[in-house]
Amino acid sequence: MRKTLVGIYERLLKVYGQLHWWPAKSPFEVIVGAILTQNTAWSNVEKAIRNLEVAQALSPAMLVDLPLAEVERLIQPSGYFRQKAQRLRIFARHLMERHGGSLVRLLDGPLDDVRKELLELKGIGPETADSILLYAAHFPTFVVDAYTVRIFSRLGILDGKEKYGEVRDLFLAHLPHDSFLFNEYHALIVEHGKTCCRKKKPLCNACSLSDICFYYGHPG
Ligand code: SF4
Repeated sequence: MRKTLVGIYERLLKVYGQLHWWPAKSPFEVIVGAILTQNTAWSNVEKAIRNLEVAQALSPAMLVDLPLAEVERLIQPSGYFRQKAQRLRIFARHLMERHGGSLVRLLDGPLDDVRKELLELKGIGPETADSILLYAAHFPTFVVDAYTVRIFSRLGILDGKEKYGEVRDLFLAHLPHDSFLFNEYHALIVEHGKTCCRKKKPLCNACSLSDICFYYGHPG
């Protein structure tokens, strides 16, 4: 399995090159982006983050102090803005009250402990927690998303019914625990899922994985 997973990574890397995620100017912006990107396109998240930036609200203190309606207004482009404003508020308040507003303090601990703390916050599920841990704190954890499940199911490595933790464990069990590798691997999966292994009409004839793909030749 290790050889297969590394082989897929190398093929995707050859096609797309290093993607250097996450597109953010600071770890706090990574976290805000990870919360806002739930169920929406990244372009909408960028607009919401830009609004927060212009309003000088891209900080834990401001996200606690601003009226919730104002946070909602600023992040409206990201969709589900009421729910997401609450989630940002919950995270920011936790950071302020438990860690004095310091991300360094929040993220300074063994991976499993920090992950558990994040998962206890309302609105932070495993994908968001792992995105924060990997991209804001460079912990060697693997982010699983819908692209991961789709691509690796089509390749015949998953059956598509596994729980989040099972998919994450598969990658963690067979790959070196290297945050650089996990950073690039997840970014490559997203790129491949968006541009080639699309939900409808995947571009199999142009895919660098077609010779090892179960779906290819057996679509539907
Ligand atoms: S061959 Fe088709 S289904 Fe398989 S990974 Fe490539 S794009 Fe996806």
